[in-house]
Amino acid sequence: METVIQDIVSALREGKQPDTAWLAKRIRAYNRSVRSMERHIGKLELLAFYRAAKEEAGTLWESWAITPEEDRAILRLLKLKPRRSASGVATITVVTMPHPCSGSCIYCPNDIRMPKSYLSNEPACQRAERNCFDPYLQVRARLALLESNGHVTDKIELIVLGGTWSDYPLPYQLWFMAELFRALDDDNAAAERRREERTAFYRGCGICSEPEELAAQAQELQELVDAGACTYNAAIGTLYSGDTWGRARTIQQASFEELEAAQRANEHARRRVVGLCVETRPDLVDDGSATLMRRLGCTKVQMGIQSLDQAILDRCGRNITVERIAQAFACLRLHGFKIVAHMMANLPSATPQDDKDDYLRLVTDPRFQPDEIKLYPCVLIASSALMRLHGRGAWRPYTEEELIDVLAADVAATPAYVRISRMIRDFSSGDIVAGNKKTNLRQMVDAAGDDAEVLEIRQREIATGDLSPDELRLSSVVYGTSVSQERFLQWTGPDGTIAGFLRLSLPKDGATAMIREVHVYGRVAELGGSEEGGAQHIGLGRSLIECACRQAHAAGFSAIRVISSVGTRPYYRRLGFADEELYQIRGLQAEGEQ
Ligand code: SF4
Repeated sequence: METVIQDIVSALREGKQPDTAWLAKRIRAYNRSVRSMERHIGKLELLAFYRAAKEEAGTLWESWAITPEEDRAILRLLKLKPRRSASGVATITVVTMPHPCSGSCIYCPNDIRMPKSYLSNEPACQRAERNCFDPYLQVRARLALLESNGHVTDKIELIVLGGTWSDYPLPYQLWFMAELFRALDDDNAAAERRREERTAFYRGCGICSEPEELAAQAQELQELVDAGACTYNAAIGTLYSGDTWGRARTIQQASFEELEAAQRANEHARRRVVGLCVETRPDLVDDGSATLMRRLGCTKVQMGIQSLDQAILDRCGRNITVERIAQAFACLRLHGFKIVAHMMANLPSATPQDDKDDYLRLVTDPRFQPDEIKLYPCVLIASSALMRLHGRGAWRPYTEEELIDVLAADVAATPAYVRISRMIRDFSSGDIVAGNKKTNLRQMVDAAGDDAEVLEIRQREIATGDLSPDELRLSSVVYGTSVSQERFLQWTGPDGTIAGFLRLSLPKDGATAMIREVHVYGRVAELGGSEEGGAQHIGLGRSLIECACRQAHAAGFSAIRVISSVGTRPYYRRLGFADEELYQIRGLQAEGEQ
């Protein structure tokens, strides 16, 4: 293994930039050179070997004489899943407690061990169950894994999943968020103490975290739910009531003061929250819930839309009008949130052409136009109400060709300011009774697309590739929504590769301009100089912000707000933004004005 590390160091010193393909080739050559299969290595072993040498700081480490820059480059190369923090931000997904949902959507899974719509086999759900759905324990478990895989964890985006956030009681919402921040504020020693105490507390309450035992406890009720003889809400009312969870709930509440203290600590913590996302239903979005989400520290909201065809919504039991969905979009936009829409193809009674038309409406109708989309084809899950309808012939899954044709058309129709974050749910194939089971569906869709230029963000992201700052060009895409003019400012390379972007909202009612998102991809942030004020280059993020301020001023706005995350507040203060209760604000003036 030492020879492989030495080869990496040599390559770096020769000015080469060894990438994943280079490393894979080098590892293959090494494995061919050792006879015993037991001595074969992968990135995991290399990373562990490298880290052990570094921690021991013995003669081996000294003999390599690795500089801090080389150390960073080696760790980046040895990361197991480079994409996970390729954007410069590590993502941690946490799951809330099972809780009643006031919806009754027919395709929605009813796994009573999980919050509505999730399945206990999904990776984030497994982690949540093993950690008694405790937010602190979930974050620490994920952090440990990310760090052992060599990922940098100083900037964290938190994604909170679980049915409908706004359905949870306020004290639980406050506690959940305060614990997320605390888990990132605590140093490793304090975190370990808290982890042990918390685990012992849940054990003392009699809460089990063993999947097999939990499955056995839930089995009888689950069978009743699957047969339609008991509702999800009634079942979880039984499963999570009683002394066991009653005792656990005694700690699951916090005040605004406690939350705000944890947030303030995070402003200067080693691991800062740079994004916080919750998911909710459009019928629960209004000024009150949007303001609360902002106080909790949220910057992004995922909404289950699924369809904009009223007949399909009604047939699926969505219990919402298209007009109400439009109101939710307008409300979230005016509050500055990044908006993620969940859309489903192949819902009952939809045709492939309906789905294509529906998607086009989502991305072009000024009442909608989300920033991100999760595009999930409907699949049949045994516990859903659709299972019984399917038995009566009320739904059929698209063929693979039909599905790929719909999704490829959707990708082609996606504007430059929209990111398609996902195309499949994390359901295991064993849970899918009918419908797509291919985990590489996205690659199949990409391969099926025609040669037309794809504008969608994810396909243009610089990820772990290289691009010189000198090749970048700043441009704006302008589009109108029902409540604002939106400007998407982007740094792109000659082939359209995107290195960073900013979302600027100029509300039609003339209120304050709003920066809804600033995103600079990690690799380029390093190339383009420090975002903290590099000497040679102005950071890409900062130049985006200055450009947004100039554009807002030119459009007649006298002030601009930013929906900053808790961990980015100090950065915006340095750029002249002042704290308000929910946002940060900066006055606008022409260059040269005092
Ligand atoms: S899709 Fe959402 S709103 Fe509908 S039942 Fe499932 S969790 Fe509830």
